[in-house]
Amino acid sequence: MERNEVLRKLPKVSELLNEASIKALEEKYGRLAVLKAIRRSIDEIRCSLEKAFEKGFSNNICEEELKKEALERALELFEKYRTYNLRKVINATGVVLHTNLGRAPLPEEALKNILEVASGYSNLEYDLDEGTRGERYAHVRELLCEITGAEDAMVVNNNAGAVLLVLSALAAGREVIISRGQLVEIGGSFRVPEVMAQSGARLVEVGTTNKTHIADYERAINENTALLLKVHTSNFKFIGFWSEVKIRELKSLGLKYGIPVMEDLGSGVLVDLTKFGLPPEPTVQESLEEGADIVTFSGDKLLGGPQAGIILGKREFIEKIKRHPLTRALRVDKLTLCALEAVLKIYSSGEPERIPVIRMLMKSPQEMEKHARRLAAELQRTIQGKGTVEVIDDVSQVGGGSLPGVELPTKAVSIQLREVGPDELARRLRMARIPVIGRIKKDRFLLDVRTMTEEDLKTASEMVGSVL
Ligand SMILES: *Cc1c(COP(=O)(O)O)cnc(C)c1O
Repeated sequence: MERNEVLRKLPKVSELLNEASIKALEEKYGRLAVLKAIRRSIDEIRCSLEKAFEKGFSNNICEEELKKEALERALELFEKYRTYNLRKVINATGVVLHTNLGRAPLPEEALKNILEVASGYSNLEYDLDEGTRGERYAHVRELLCEITGAEDAMVVNNNAGAVLLVLSALAAGREVIISRGQLVEIGGSFRVPEVMAQSGARLVEVGTTNKTHIADYERAINENTALLLKVHTSNFKFIGFWSEVKIRELKSLGLKYGIPVMEDLGSGVLVDLTKFGLPPEPTVQESLEEGADIVTFSGDKLLGGPQAGIILGKREFIEKIKRHPLTRALRVDKLTLCALEAVLKIYSSGEPERIPVIRMLMKSPQEMEKHARRLAAELQRTIQGKGTVEVIDDVSQVGGGSLPGVELPTKAVSIQLREVGPDELARRLRMARIPVIGRIKKDRFLLDVRTMTEEDLKTASEMVGSVL
């Protein structure tokens, strides 16, 4: 067959518009929406035919078949255009702060507040008492100070931004002393030495990889020293022969030479994690109490709030930071502030277990057992003898570069199918209407109930049913 002869057999837009399935969609969603899918579908088929011709392929092609394919593709594309690209997935990986899956889920109060404030106008930068221009940070400053004991506070887009901003404002063109053991890469290309170079501050590394002493810092101090910096090693853990200098010691040294001390805590822990059976983690309050002049941390790691970079500390430094031009470039938006204020109010009311991240970390073995049994029973019904479903003991991780190496005992439901391998099942579930992300261990596909809500249990088994 000739190239043009084949291309003439492609269905016309008007033909597809006459199809019953398209007409039904048009009635519901309008002509524009269906036209986009139809045109794209025909284009895609034309392209693949052209490519086939280039390769010398010239089979007989029937008009009816082309039309059928174009229709199917148009319906698929329509569905794709109609759903959002960024959308809900079920996190059945057991990793509580999964950076690829959006880190911290927000508590309901935060969502309500976003809806209430962002669907209309707000006093974002308006002082209602005075009727004059206000500051966006004012909405969370008091809560942050009350909870942490800080003198002053501000918030930017994320913690990487917070570190860059503080170093730029307080140390550009000068020296910052940091231990060699803390020159870490956090992931997503955040490397402490690189961020420092970007800020214009000069890095002065002291000590060795595993041990740094206060005398190492003292020897490096000169008239050009702007900051003593401590960075939480986050996703990286030392074991064996190692030690680092405490903030308290750095502060004494700082006082002696008149140099401020900064700590980048990474994960902003506001509560004592040992109460939930987790290993101790330095809290924001402790860092400030020990004397840190500036503390930075993320809003969406162990704090359990929206993506944000929180900067706390002495008023004179916060004031100086606010005046730096980068503050405007890294400015926090109103949706974030709505969510953050709601989350901070929960901390302030002394009920951190109402925050999803905290709730998942402290989920009891009994509750997980109950949820795993319920999920297993639903799945058993769903797969109807196509394989086996089992509740097993396993461990989940905190994730997000927080508490590395900590293993939380958990319950998972394992699915083994006779006809579908674990990789294929994982792939199909990623493509489901509501994607379900699990993990594979020893050739089994696992759904970890730690990170699943009660609603997720039901949805996940529906999705398994839909892909089999
Ligand atoms: C995670 C982390 C950062 C980056 O925080 P983001 O909020 O992800 O930008 C910076 N420093 C440390 C120590 C961290 O753990």
